[in-house]
Amino acid sequence: MKRDYYEVLGVGKNATSDELKKAYRKLAIKYHPDKNPGDKEAEEKFKEAAEAYDVLSNPDKKARYDQFGHAGMSGAGGYGGASGFGDFDINDIFSSVFGHGFGGFGGFGGFGGGGSRGGSRQAAAVRGDNLRIRVKVTLEEIAKGVEKTIKLERMVASPDTTYKTCPTCGGTGQRVVAQQTPFGMMQSVTTCHTCGGSGKVVDKRGAGANEEGLVKKLDSITIKIPAGVVDGMQLRMSGKGHCGPMGGPAGDLIVLIEEVPDEVFSRDENNLLYDLYISMPEAVLGAKKELPTIDGGKVSITLEKGTQAGKILRLKGKGLPEYGRAGRGDMLVYVNVWTPQNLSREQEKFFASMMKDKAFEPRPASSQKKSFVDRLKEMFR
Ligand SMILES: [Zn+2]
Repeated sequence: MKRDYYEVLGVGKNATSDELKKAYRKLAIKYHPDKNPGDKEAEEKFKEAAEAYDVLSNPDKKARYDQFGHAGMSGAGGYGGASGFGDFDINDIFSSVFGHGFGGFGGFGGFGGGGSRGGSRQAAAVRGDNLRIRVKVTLEEIAKGVEKTIKLERMVASPDTTYKTCPTCGGTGQRVVAQQTPFGMMQSVTTCHTCGGSGKVVDKRGAGANEEGLVKKLDSITIKIPAGVVDGMQLRMSGKGHCGPMGGPAGDLIVLIEEVPDEVFSRDENNLLYDLYISMPEAVLGAKKELPTIDGGKVSITLEKGTQAGKILRLKGKGLPEYGRAGRGDMLVYVNVWTPQNLSREQEKFFASMMKDKAFEPRPASSQKKSFVDRLKEMFR
Protein backbone atom coordinates (compact mmCIF):
# COMPACT_ATOMS: atom_id res chain seq x y z
CA MET A 1 0.00 0.00 0.00
CA LYS A 2 1.32 3.40 -0.97
CA ARG A 3 1.06 6.11 1.64
CA ASP A 4 -0.89 9.26 0.98
CA TYR A 5 1.44 11.96 -0.38
CA TYR A 6 0.12 14.58 2.02
CA GLU A 7 0.75 12.19 4.89
CA VAL A 8 4.27 11.48 3.61
CA LEU A 9 5.17 15.16 3.69
CA GLY A 10 3.02 15.88 6.74
CA VAL A 11 1.26 18.80 5.10
CA GLY A 12 -2.36 19.80 4.51
CA LYS A 13 -4.12 19.84 1.16
CA ASN A 14 -3.70 23.59 0.86
CA ALA A 15 0.00 23.71 1.68
CA THR A 16 1.83 26.50 -0.15
CA SER A 17 4.80 25.74 -2.35
CA ASP A 18 7.06 27.09 0.41
CA GLU A 19 5.52 24.76 2.96
CA LEU A 20 5.89 21.82 0.59
CA LYS A 21 9.52 22.69 -0.06
CA LYS A 22 10.24 23.01 3.66
CA ALA A 23 8.59 19.68 4.43
CA TYR A 24 10.45 17.91 1.65
CA ARG A 25 13.76 19.55 2.61
CA LYS A 26 13.45 18.26 6.17
CA LEU A 27 12.77 14.69 5.07
CA ALA A 28 15.43 14.73 2.35
CA ILE A 29 18.07 15.76 4.88
CA LYS A 30 16.88 13.25 7.47
CA TYR A 31 16.80 10.27 5.10
CA HIS A 32 19.62 11.24 2.76
CA PRO A 33 21.62 8.15 1.74
CA ASP A 34 24.88 9.81 2.81
CA LYS A 35 23.57 10.08 6.35
CA ASN A 36 22.09 6.58 6.37
CA PRO A 37 24.53 4.38 4.50
CA GLY A 38 23.14 0.92 3.77
CA ASP A 39 19.80 1.69 5.44
CA LYS A 40 17.14 0.38 3.05
CA GLU A 41 14.27 1.87 5.01
CA ALA A 42 15.80 5.34 4.92
CA GLU A 43 16.39 4.90 1.21
CA GLU A 44 12.72 4.08 0.69
CA LYS A 45 11.65 7.07 2.80
CA PHE A 46 14.00 9.30 0.83
CA LYS A 47 12.47 8.16 -2.45
CA GLU A 48 8.94 8.36 -1.08
CA ALA A 49 9.45 11.98 -0.01
CA ALA A 50 10.86 12.90 -3.42
CA GLU A 51 7.93 11.28 -5.18
CA ALA A 52 5.39 13.02 -2.93
CA TYR A 53 7.11 16.36 -3.45
CA ASP A 54 7.31 15.82 -7.21
CA VAL A 55 3.55 15.29 -7.39
CA LEU A 56 2.33 17.89 -4.91
CA SER A 57 4.63 20.66 -6.17
CA ASN A 58 3.38 20.22 -9.74
CA PRO A 59 -0.10 21.71 -10.20
CA ASP A 60 -1.05 19.25 -12.99
CA LYS A 61 0.06 16.19 -11.09
CA LYS A 62 -1.43 17.48 -7.85
CA ALA A 63 -4.83 17.99 -9.49
CA ARG A 64 -4.70 14.48 -10.91
CA TYR A 65 -3.67 13.05 -7.55
CA ASP A 66 -6.37 14.98 -5.69
CA GLN A 67 -8.98 13.65 -8.09
CA PHE A 68 -7.88 10.06 -8.59
CA GLY A 69 -5.41 9.30 -5.80
CA HIS A 70 -2.52 6.98 -6.55
CA ALA A 71 -4.57 5.34 -9.28
CA GLY A 72 -4.40 8.62 -11.19
CA MET A 73 -0.60 8.58 -11.09
CA SER A 74 -0.02 5.08 -12.42
CA GLY A 75 -0.37 3.64 -15.85
CA ALA A 76 -2.80 1.02 -14.59
CA GLY A 77 -5.80 3.29 -14.90
CA GLY A 78 -5.10 3.58 -18.57
CA TYR A 79 -3.39 6.93 -18.84
CA GLY A 80 -2.72 6.49 -22.52
CA GLY A 81 -0.83 3.31 -21.81
CA ALA A 82 1.92 5.28 -20.18
CA SER A 83 4.58 3.56 -18.20
CA GLY A 84 3.12 5.31 -15.22
CA PHE A 85 4.89 7.31 -12.64
CA GLY A 86 8.40 6.17 -13.39
CA ASP A 87 9.18 9.37 -15.21
CA PHE A 88 10.53 11.51 -12.42
CA ASP A 89 14.16 11.74 -11.53
CA ILE A 90 14.93 11.97 -7.82
CA ASN A 91 18.12 13.79 -8.64
CA ASP A 92 16.15 16.48 -10.51
CA ILE A 93 13.80 16.93 -7.59
CA PHE A 94 16.62 17.07 -5.07
CA SER A 95 18.57 19.62 -7.07
CA SER A 96 15.46 21.73 -7.70
CA VAL A 97 15.19 22.23 -3.95
CA PHE A 98 18.84 22.17 -2.85
CA GLY A 99 20.32 23.81 -5.90
CA HIS A 100 22.69 20.96 -6.67
CA GLY A 101 22.48 17.30 -7.41
CA PHE A 102 24.07 14.32 -5.74
CA GLY A 103 25.80 11.65 -7.69
CA GLY A 104 24.71 8.30 -8.95
CA PHE A 105 21.15 8.45 -7.81
CA GLY A 106 17.71 8.07 -9.29
CA GLY A 107 17.73 7.65 -13.00
CA PHE A 108 21.32 6.47 -13.13
CA GLY A 109 21.24 2.98 -11.76
CA GLY A 110 20.57 3.62 -8.10
CA PHE A 111 22.90 4.39 -5.25
CA GLY A 112 24.48 2.44 -2.48
CA GLY A 113 26.94 0.71 -4.78
CA GLY A 114 29.75 2.46 -2.95
CA GLY A 115 32.88 3.43 -4.84
CA SER A 116 31.33 3.83 -8.24
CA ARG A 117 29.87 7.21 -7.39
CA GLY A 118 31.12 10.02 -9.57
CA GLY A 119 33.33 9.91 -12.56
CA SER A 120 32.99 6.47 -13.99
CA ARG A 121 29.43 6.37 -15.20
CA GLN A 122 28.26 6.46 -18.76
CA ALA A 123 26.69 9.56 -20.21
CA ALA A 124 22.91 9.42 -20.07
CA ALA A 125 20.83 9.98 -23.14
CA VAL A 126 18.91 13.23 -22.86
CA ARG A 127 15.19 12.85 -23.19
CA GLY A 128 13.20 15.07 -25.54
CA ASP A 129 10.74 17.64 -24.27
CA ASN A 130 7.13 16.79 -23.58
CA LEU A 131 4.62 18.10 -26.07
CA ARG A 132 1.28 19.36 -24.83
CA ILE A 133 -1.88 19.62 -26.85
CA ARG A 134 -5.49 20.35 -26.07
CA VAL A 135 -8.16 18.16 -27.63
CA LYS A 136 -11.86 18.99 -27.73
CA VAL A 137 -14.30 16.16 -27.20
CA THR A 138 -18.09 16.14 -27.23
CA LEU A 139 -20.24 14.29 -24.69
CA GLU A 140 -21.20 11.87 -27.44
CA GLU A 141 -17.52 11.09 -28.02
CA ILE A 142 -16.96 10.75 -24.29
CA ALA A 143 -19.83 8.26 -24.13
CA LYS A 144 -18.21 5.89 -26.61
CA GLY A 145 -14.54 6.77 -26.57
CA VAL A 146 -13.01 8.17 -29.72
CA GLU A 147 -9.90 8.12 -31.86
CA LYS A 148 -8.74 11.43 -33.20
CA THR A 149 -6.04 12.00 -35.75
CA ILE A 150 -4.29 15.27 -35.16
CA LYS A 151 -1.56 17.12 -36.97
CA LEU A 152 1.16 18.52 -34.77
CA GLU A 153 4.65 19.90 -35.05
CA ARG A 154 7.32 17.80 -33.38
CA MET A 155 11.05 18.19 -33.15
CA VAL A 156 12.71 15.16 -34.71
CA ALA A 157 16.32 14.23 -35.44
CA SER A 158 17.51 15.57 -38.77
CA PRO A 159 19.05 12.79 -40.83
CA ASP A 160 22.05 14.80 -42.04
CA THR A 161 23.21 16.12 -38.65
CA THR A 162 26.44 14.57 -37.36
CA TYR A 163 27.72 14.47 -33.77
CA LYS A 164 31.03 14.34 -31.99
CA THR A 165 32.20 13.69 -28.42
CA CYS A 166 31.63 16.64 -26.08
CA PRO A 167 34.93 18.50 -25.65
CA THR A 168 34.01 19.79 -22.17
CA CYS A 169 33.31 16.50 -20.41
CA GLY A 170 35.06 14.13 -22.79
CA GLY A 171 31.85 12.18 -23.31
CA THR A 172 30.91 11.43 -19.68
CA GLY A 173 28.08 13.97 -19.71
CA GLN A 174 28.94 15.23 -16.23
CA ARG A 175 31.19 17.43 -14.19
CA VAL A 176 32.42 16.58 -10.71
CA VAL A 177 32.71 19.52 -8.34
CA ALA A 178 33.38 19.93 -4.62
CA GLN A 179 30.55 21.77 -2.94
CA GLN A 180 29.38 22.92 0.46
CA THR A 181 26.16 21.03 1.20
CA PRO A 182 23.85 20.62 4.20
CA PHE A 183 25.91 17.48 5.01
CA GLY A 184 29.33 19.09 4.87
CA MET A 185 31.76 19.26 1.96
CA MET A 186 30.65 16.85 -0.67
CA GLN A 187 31.84 15.85 -4.03
CA SER A 188 28.89 16.50 -6.16
CA VAL A 189 28.20 15.60 -9.71
CA THR A 190 26.44 17.98 -12.01
CA THR A 191 25.33 17.66 -15.58
CA CYS A 192 27.74 18.96 -18.19
CA HIS A 193 26.34 22.26 -19.43
CA THR A 194 27.90 21.98 -22.87
CA CYS A 195 26.19 18.74 -23.88
CA GLY A 196 23.31 18.65 -21.41
CA GLY A 197 24.49 15.27 -20.14
CA SER A 198 24.45 13.38 -23.41
CA GLY A 199 28.25 13.38 -23.83
CA LYS A 200 27.84 14.41 -27.43
CA VAL A 201 27.56 17.69 -29.29
CA VAL A 202 26.52 18.53 -32.82
CA ASP A 203 29.42 18.42 -35.24
CA LYS A 204 27.65 19.49 -38.41
CA ARG A 205 24.08 20.72 -38.34
CA GLY A 206 21.73 19.31 -40.95
CA ALA A 207 19.63 21.59 -43.15
CA GLY A 208 17.19 23.59 -41.02
CA ALA A 209 18.31 21.89 -37.81
CA ASN A 210 18.63 23.74 -34.50
CA GLU A 211 21.71 23.64 -32.27
CA GLU A 212 20.66 20.25 -30.93
CA GLY A 213 20.43 18.83 -34.43
CA LEU A 214 16.62 18.69 -34.41
CA VAL A 215 14.23 19.83 -37.12
CA LYS A 216 10.55 20.69 -36.99
CA LYS A 217 8.31 18.14 -38.62
CA LEU A 218 4.56 18.17 -39.17
CA ASP A 219 3.39 14.80 -37.91
CA SER A 220 0.03 13.15 -37.93
CA ILE A 221 -0.77 11.27 -34.79
CA THR A 222 -3.76 9.17 -33.72
CA ILE A 223 -4.89 9.69 -30.17
CA LYS A 224 -7.11 7.13 -28.52
CA ILE A 225 -9.40 8.84 -26.04
CA PRO A 226 -11.09 6.33 -23.74
CA ALA A 227 -14.75 6.59 -22.78
CA GLY A 228 -15.66 8.54 -19.67
CA VAL A 229 -12.85 11.10 -19.71
CA VAL A 230 -13.41 14.31 -17.78
CA ASP A 231 -12.73 17.91 -18.70
CA GLY A 232 -9.22 18.88 -17.57
CA MET A 233 -7.93 15.30 -17.52
CA GLN A 234 -4.52 14.67 -19.01
CA LEU A 235 -3.68 11.61 -21.05
CA ARG A 236 -0.03 10.79 -21.45
CA MET A 237 1.31 9.07 -24.55
CA SER A 238 4.80 7.80 -23.86
CA GLY A 239 7.45 8.65 -26.41
CA LYS A 240 5.16 10.71 -28.65
CA GLY A 241 6.61 14.09 -27.66
CA HIS A 242 9.67 15.82 -29.10
CA CYS A 243 12.63 13.62 -29.94
CA GLY A 244 15.64 13.91 -27.66
CA PRO A 245 18.81 15.63 -28.83
CA MET A 246 21.73 13.46 -29.98
CA GLY A 247 19.46 10.47 -30.50
CA GLY A 248 17.99 10.59 -26.98
CA PRO A 249 14.52 9.11 -26.39
CA ALA A 250 11.45 11.18 -27.18
CA GLY A 251 9.47 12.96 -24.49
CA ASP A 252 5.78 12.32 -23.92
CA LEU A 253 2.75 13.74 -25.61
CA ILE A 254 0.38 15.12 -23.00
CA VAL A 255 -3.19 15.43 -24.18
CA LEU A 256 -5.38 17.82 -22.22
CA ILE A 257 -9.06 16.93 -22.51
CA GLU A 258 -11.45 19.78 -23.13
CA GLU A 259 -15.12 18.91 -22.94
CA VAL A 260 -17.37 20.76 -25.37
CA PRO A 261 -20.66 21.76 -23.71
CA ASP A 262 -23.63 19.83 -25.09
CA GLU A 263 -26.87 21.46 -26.21
CA VAL A 264 -29.11 18.63 -25.07
CA PHE A 265 -27.45 17.12 -22.02
CA SER A 266 -25.58 18.56 -19.12
CA ARG A 267 -23.14 16.47 -17.17
CA ASP A 268 -22.89 15.82 -13.47
CA GLU A 269 -19.96 13.44 -13.04
CA ASN A 270 -21.17 10.39 -14.96
CA ASN A 271 -24.84 11.29 -14.83
CA LEU A 272 -26.54 13.19 -17.62
CA LEU A 273 -29.29 15.69 -16.95
CA TYR A 274 -32.01 16.14 -19.53
CA ASP A 275 -34.66 18.85 -19.44
CA LEU A 276 -37.99 17.55 -20.73
CA TYR A 277 -40.82 19.95 -21.55
CA ILE A 278 -44.35 18.60 -21.68
CA SER A 279 -47.64 20.39 -22.30
CA MET A 280 -50.30 21.00 -19.67
CA PRO A 281 -52.69 18.44 -21.24
CA GLU A 282 -49.85 15.88 -21.27
CA ALA A 283 -49.23 16.56 -17.58
CA VAL A 284 -52.93 16.11 -16.84
CA LEU A 285 -53.66 13.10 -19.05
CA GLY A 286 -50.30 11.34 -19.04
CA ALA A 287 -48.16 10.75 -22.14
CA LYS A 288 -45.63 8.52 -23.83
CA LYS A 289 -42.43 10.36 -24.79
CA GLU A 290 -39.43 9.41 -26.85
CA LEU A 291 -36.16 10.93 -25.67
CA PRO A 292 -32.71 10.98 -27.26
CA THR A 293 -29.87 9.14 -25.52
CA ILE A 294 -26.22 10.13 -25.54
CA ASP A 295 -25.38 7.12 -27.73
CA GLY A 296 -27.54 8.58 -30.48
CA GLY A 297 -30.38 6.15 -29.75
CA LYS A 298 -33.87 6.68 -28.37
CA VAL A 299 -35.58 5.70 -25.15
CA SER A 300 -39.32 5.67 -24.41
CA ILE A 301 -40.78 6.85 -21.15
CA THR A 302 -44.34 6.88 -19.90
CA LEU A 303 -45.60 9.79 -17.85
CA GLU A 304 -48.51 8.89 -15.65
CA LYS A 305 -51.71 10.87 -15.35
CA GLY A 306 -51.26 13.93 -13.18
CA THR A 307 -47.50 14.22 -13.62
CA GLN A 308 -46.18 17.14 -11.58
CA ALA A 309 -43.75 19.72 -12.86
CA GLY A 310 -40.34 19.13 -11.32
CA LYS A 311 -40.64 15.35 -11.33
CA ILE A 312 -37.35 13.62 -11.96
CA LEU A 313 -37.16 10.28 -13.73
CA ARG A 314 -34.07 8.18 -13.50
CA LEU A 315 -33.05 6.09 -16.49
CA LYS A 316 -30.50 3.67 -15.10
CA GLY A 317 -27.32 3.14 -17.05
CA LYS A 318 -28.17 5.73 -19.71
CA GLY A 319 -25.47 8.12 -18.51
CA LEU A 320 -21.76 8.17 -19.28
CA PRO A 321 -19.38 5.25 -18.77
CA GLU A 322 -17.02 5.37 -15.80
CA TYR A 323 -13.48 6.25 -16.80
CA GLY A 324 -11.21 3.24 -16.63
CA ARG A 325 -13.76 0.80 -15.22
CA ALA A 326 -17.08 -0.90 -15.85
CA GLY A 327 -20.42 0.69 -15.17
CA ARG A 328 -22.30 3.75 -16.34
CA GLY A 329 -24.01 6.70 -14.77
CA ASP A 330 -27.72 7.41 -15.17
CA MET A 331 -29.78 9.79 -17.24
CA LEU A 332 -31.95 12.01 -15.08
CA VAL A 333 -35.00 13.47 -16.80
CA TYR A 334 -36.32 16.65 -15.25
CA VAL A 335 -39.96 17.26 -16.17
CA ASN A 336 -40.99 20.83 -16.93
CA VAL A 337 -44.63 21.61 -17.65
CA TRP A 338 -45.08 24.27 -20.26
CA THR A 339 -47.72 26.82 -19.36
CA PRO A 340 -49.37 28.22 -22.50
CA GLN A 341 -48.89 31.96 -22.92
CA ASN A 342 -51.03 32.89 -25.93
CA LEU A 343 -54.47 31.41 -25.49
CA SER A 344 -57.58 32.31 -27.43
CA ARG A 345 -60.50 33.92 -25.64
CA GLU A 346 -62.28 30.52 -25.79
CA GLN A 347 -59.38 28.75 -24.14
CA GLU A 348 -59.04 31.41 -21.48
CA LYS A 349 -62.74 31.01 -20.76
CA PHE A 350 -62.17 27.32 -20.21
CA PHE A 351 -59.49 27.97 -17.63
CA ALA A 352 -61.59 30.70 -16.05
CA SER A 353 -64.40 28.19 -15.61
CA MET A 354 -61.95 25.86 -13.82
CA MET A 355 -60.67 28.56 -11.51
CA LYS A 356 -63.08 27.75 -8.72
CA ASP A 357 -63.03 24.00 -9.36
CA LYS A 358 -61.66 22.10 -6.37
CA ALA A 359 -59.84 19.64 -8.68
CA PHE A 360 -57.47 22.43 -9.74
CA GLU A 361 -56.53 23.44 -6.23
CA PRO A 362 -52.87 22.61 -5.44
CA ARG A 363 -52.77 19.94 -2.77
CA PRO A 364 -49.26 18.50 -2.69
CA ALA A 365 -48.67 15.57 -0.38
CA SER A 366 -45.82 16.28 2.03
CA SER A 367 -43.59 13.93 -0.02
CA GLN A 368 -44.16 16.17 -3.07
CA LYS A 369 -43.22 19.35 -1.25
CA LYS A 370 -39.50 18.71 -1.25
CA SER A 371 -37.49 21.23 -3.15
CA PHE A 372 -35.85 20.41 -6.43
CA VAL A 373 -32.45 20.29 -4.76
CA ASP A 374 -33.66 17.82 -2.13
CA ARG A 375 -35.13 15.58 -4.77
CA LEU A 376 -31.99 15.75 -6.89
CA LYS A 377 -29.92 14.79 -3.87
CA GLU A 378 -32.24 11.87 -3.32
CA MET A 379 -31.72 10.72 -6.89
CA PHE A 380 -27.95 10.74 -6.51
CA ARG A 381 -27.99 8.71 -3.28
ZN1 LIG B 1 29.63 17.40 -22.09
